[in-house]
Amino acid sequence: MQKASSTKNVKTMQLFALRENERISARQALKQYDYRCLECLNPVRVRSGPHRQPHFFHTTSHPLCTQQGKTLFHLQTQERILQTLPQGDVELEVPFPNIGRIADAVWESKQLIFEVQCSSISEQEARKRIHDYETLGYRVIWILHEKRFNRRQLSAAEQFLVNRECYFSSIDIEGGGMIYDQFAIVRNNKRLFRGPRLEISLAHPFSLCQLPLNDQFPKELLQRASMRHIGFRGDLFDRLHATEPQDWFAMKRLEQHFNEKQGSCQSIKSGLSWIKHVYLSLLHAFLEKHSA
Ligand SMILES: [Zn+2]
Repeated sequence: MQKASSTKNVKTMQLFALRENERISARQALKQYDYRCLECLNPVRVRSGPHRQPHFFHTTSHPLCTQQGKTLFHLQTQERILQTLPQGDVELEVPFPNIGRIADAVWESKQLIFEVQCSSISEQEARKRIHDYETLGYRVIWILHEKRFNRRQLSAAEQFLVNRECYFSSIDIEGGGMIYDQFAIVRNNKRLFRGPRLEISLAHPFSLCQLPLNDQFPKELLQRASMRHIGFRGDLFDRLHATEPQDWFAMKRLEQHFNEKQGSCQSIKSGLSWIKHVYLSLLHAFLEKHSA
């Protein structure tokens, strides 16, 4: 039996495959039978274990198949999305032959697609994926996994995505963890500050057009709002909604502080310890007060 630590980064595969031309779940599949990959159509088999979610794997390596590159973190995040959204209205791993893509999760009645990203991606591919699904009338909600994203340094793709409909996942290989939003201050592709993780409910989307956004909002959020159309219960926009401007004080003051100190690493370092005593506690108190 493999140790948990050695299975963490094992490339697994998807939760669905083809039997003849029928899509079948790994939970229904029989071991020792050959099925076909939804994407590359090569043979796959099912495997599972007492601590391992059933999933398909390719019997031989096909590096160009994106389904083959999925990890257990990816599959567990997909499962969480499935459990969270209304039963019968959401499907995992849905092929879109017109654009040659397989969506991680589709919430059909809301025209939403959830894309889980655990591996690096180029900005060009992120833009193309959003565009491709938009041509079919779907909006993409990105769930970036902590294994690769939400680190100090942001890649070009992450820099692009954080201002779109984008959240993070801390879901581990056992299914623990959460999908969350986070207030952050980013300067020169680096996260200089992160607030607490704010768990969100994907089952409760809302339109950002309804939010009374104005100059009083923290700039980091105004920037995000300009590119986003949808929020979810528990996210930063939801928590800021229907609160008084003075409640945003901690966030705005943090922003000002980083603007004043920009370009001076030493000042940021000493400033951070000072901030921790005052504004950080204010920010935490505020976000907890408005938690979903
Ligand atoms: Zn494949």
